[in-house]
Amino acid sequence: GETIGILGGGQLGRMIAVAAAQLGYRCHIFAPEADSIAAEVSAAFTCADWHDAEALARFAADCAVVTYEFENVPVAPLLQLGDTVLHPHPRALETAQDRLNEKTFVTDLGGAPAPFAPVDSAADLDAAIAAIGAPGILKTRRDGYDGKGQWRIMTAEDARGLDLPAKPLIYEGFVNFFAEFSVILCRGEDGDIRYFDSAQNIHEGGILSLSTVPASAEVEAQVPAARELAARVADALGYVGVLTLEFFATRDGPVFNEMAPRVHNSGHWTIEGAVTSQFENHVRAICGLPLGGTGLAARAVEMRNLIGDEAHDWPAILSDPANHLHLYGKAAARPGRKMGHVTRLTFD
Ligand code: ATP
Ligand code: MG
Ligand code: MG
Repeated sequence: GETIGILGGGQLGRMIAVAAAQLGYRCHIFAPEADSIAAEVSAAFTCADWHDAEALARFAADCAVVTYEFENVPVAPLLQLGDTVLHPHPRALETAQDRLNEKTFVTDLGGAPAPFAPVDSAADLDAAIAAIGAPGILKTRRDGYDGKGQWRIMTAEDARGLDLPAKPLIYEGFVNFFAEFSVILCRGEDGDIRYFDSAQNIHEGGILSLSTVPASAEVEAQVPAARELAARVADALGYVGVLTLEFFATRDGPVFNEMAPRVHNSGHWTIEGAVTSQFENHVRAICGLPLGGTGLAARAVEMRNLIGDEAHDWPAILSDPANHLHLYGKAAARPGRKMGHVTRLTFD
């Protein structure tokens, strides 16, 4: 079959590759890490630096289409690839890689993020706190994930003691949410959009811990407005593939948190819990195939992340027939590392 190129070598790439194999495609992984768990289940692997233009060009020449499982791939080398088909377009990466760009872009489309201000100095931070108030969260504009690169600021005095990193930052007001949820959509080459059910997400220490579908009725009530915004984002970017937007559910309606131009951890439940998984629909979209149904395949679904080195009793998990176990094949279990997940379907 044809070859799909995937930029990034982690568990999201691994699960895309598994879905692609089922549809008869082979995958070629391009990633800087030598021990790629996506490459383990793929036909080809280029281990190279993101900026290695020659390696990237050889990789692209092998692929009918190139996609991403990691949103922080440097964009400039991608734009030099000439006639390679890139789905989604690198402009989606460019927008999502910088929290300031992302929030400005979404605000221009009518979305409502928390109040925010760029911070490049201690004086900027003082001004941002004066304008927005405290508590708030100071975040690095780029490269943050799983809550890394974030500082909670409870009072203006807190900020005085901070040793600011020499990186572009953003200060945002603390959102008093009653729940978090995500919108995951898939947009085809023809502009057709399908939405998965929105999962209600619980984070622990900045890391996704639990996704539940369906979400509570209070959260469900906010999903239509959130979907409308997500569709505007997808259309504005000419997006092809799976796109995720994270929201805070507040008494005043959905507040946009951030977007991910890719399949998402809060959509892992779709592998068993939806008619078509986010991974299969992403493959279908980027390959120009019709999209599969996104409806629920059970009454309720729950996805729990397996994080860090806590010991798990795999036979005990598997002895419950409602559980599906996914292990990513990662070697060392560092604290906070996503090692796998368990999906549980309920039918009654
Ligand atoms: P991800 O792994 O989802 O990319 P990230 O490092 O980009 O995470 P965020 O999504 O910005 O981090 O924040 C992680 C979590 O921290 C959020 O899901 C939420 O629980 C909390 N959080 C972040 N920003 C705010 C805010 N402005 N107000 C309240 N809580 C927040
Ligand atoms: Mg993020
Ligand atoms: Mg997030």
